[in-house]
Amino acid sequence: MDVEDHAGGQRAAAQTGRLLDLLEAAGAQGTFFVEDAVVAADPALVRVIAARGHEVASHGHRHCPIAEEAPASFRAGMATARDRLADVTGQAPMGYRAPYFSLTPQAAWASDVLAGLGFSYSSSVLPAWNPLAGWPGAPRRPFLWASGLLELPVPVARVGPLRLPFLGGMYLRWLPPWRLRWMAGRWAAEEVDGALWSYCHPYDLDREQALVHRRDAGAFGSLMLWLNRGPTLPRLQGLLEGRRSVTFAERLPALRRGAVTWLPAGALQPAPAE
Ligand SMILES: [Zn+2]
Repeated sequence: MDVEDHAGGQRAAAQTGRLLDLLEAAGAQGTFFVEDAVVAADPALVRVIAARGHEVASHGHRHCPIAEEAPASFRAGMATARDRLADVTGQAPMGYRAPYFSLTPQAAWASDVLAGLGFSYSSSVLPAWNPLAGWPGAPRRPFLWASGLLELPVPVARVGPLRLPFLGGMYLRWLPPWRLRWMAGRWAAEEVDGALWSYCHPYDLDREQALVHRRDAGAFGSLMLWLNRGPTLPRLQGLLEGRRSVTFAERLPALRRGAVTWLPAGALQPAPAE
């Protein structure tokens, strides 16, 4: 889960609690990427996530696409976010997920910064064209950046002309279940050698929240993000049935062994050392 709070207040904590209960009932574990603002506002929530056996990782120091920031300010912000998580949980986070899967060609330098800050892996690339953020041509299986940072791209499958991160967020809510099953089969048939995983946000589960106009989504996007939240929990439950779900941290050695090294052509040069 990407634990973020677009509305303020305690809503994110309550919805995270519902997901924690579902995971516990299913005997499943997961990785929670927590936005720095939530870590600062509600360290108790972060401790509960860790105490219930899940991995706590970072969802960044601000909820904006990486490329909107200069490397030096990203580095400084992420160092603060990392240190705050380490203070709260007692250990430095291994993983990072960019807001909006925004590790794009314009932000290629970020992999070096993250490796330099001691992160082991990132789960921030959407390996397809996407209207929000994507990296067409990036490997669809786990890969290593030149820095040694392991990247776990979000699983995508074809829907018409697009490849979508079908198992998470809004797609998980809006695509019919038969379509999700078909796409999961298609993903496997394309022999993508990696871990199939889902993702969601506190708001995907929040059925009582009033409509919030999100500046990052526009009017139509805000409506789509608000409607049809009821199916999220049952669908996550369906995905967990008959499957073993563990944290990324637990899978890391195996994923790293199977990873290819990828040197993107035409990407921006790594950030200069400071
Ligand atoms: Zn997010």
